Amino acid sequence: EIIDIADPMRTQAILNTYGLHAKKKFGQNFLTDLTVLHGIVDIAGITDQDYVIEIGPGIGALTEQLARAAKKVVAFEIDTQMVDVLSETLQPYDNVKVINGDILDINLPEVIRAEFGEEAHVKVVANLPYYITTPILMQLLRTNIAWDNIVVMMQREVAERLNAEVGTKAYGVLTLIIQYFAQAELAIEVSAASFNPAPNVDSAVVKLTPLSPELVVAQPERLFGVIKGSFSHRRKSLWNNMLQTYGKEAVTKEKITKALDQANIAPSIRAERLDLKQLTALYLALKSQGL
Ligand code: SAM
Repeated sequence: EIIDIADPMRTQAILNTYGLHAKKKFGQNFLTDLTVLHGIVDIAGITDQDYVIEIGPGIGALTEQLARAAKKVVAFEIDTQMVDVLSETLQPYDNVKVINGDILDINLPEVIRAEFGEEAHVKVVANLPYYITTPILMQLLRTNIAWDNIVVMMQREVAERLNAEVGTKAYGVLTLIIQYFAQAELAIEVSAASFNPAPNVDSAVVKLTPLSPELVVAQPERLFGVIKGSFSHRRKSLWNNMLQTYGKEAVTKEKITKALDQANIAPSIRAERLDLKQLTALYLALKSQGL
């Protein structure tokens, strides 16, 4: 009988055999909960037709489950020691390729083309290293790859920011940038006991589904710049944040006034009260005023 890599005893045995300790600097917390792992594979809807990208395979707990369900898995791991372990733990699976490198430095479109083919679309699945959750999400969403869904474990608090409602404490820049690209759903709540070692925060699995944005702008980076500027001091009015961003000269004030008027937004409002549609209108109005 095959014992899964994720089995708590096998995980500990693998770590002991290689004399490994989970490395904090790489955000290493290994999943040892098969119910959660099966849940992740289910939520991503992985079938034998699917090409899967995994970030941070560790000793292979999730990779193994993905390999059993998918057509092919390509996994990126920064820690060379883990790569050595994987060459043994994943030895039974011939549809997995492990690439040693930093996910943030990898040219994903190129790897996808080389490993899966020209027209391939992918599913992205990961138990993310929490210290770089946001940069990884930004990279996935902002690079031009065709993805069916992204199903990732992250800190619960960050998960709540991804699908926060307007006006709540969790609502902010991250919510809005994610919303521009995707619909976010908090799919599974996961307790610290599901990992070895247990992280000191609660976790959650989030599913992102792509949106064909109703509000496509030519330069999303500039829209995100306006969003960041609007939120630079959460407790201050939009007006104050605009002056802070663009300057306080009389001509600038006049342009901001016109833009707010054009976008039909009260200067006294706080950004946390504005939805993506309103912030997009603001961005376009500022742009038309030459700001
Ligand atoms: N997938 C495994 C599991 O679920 O048990 C391990 C998940 S652990 C939370 C995060 C993994 O990401 C670790 O294996 C870590 O070494 C790796 N990692 C950290 N930073 C990375 C980076 N910049 N690029 C690629 N992998 C990274």
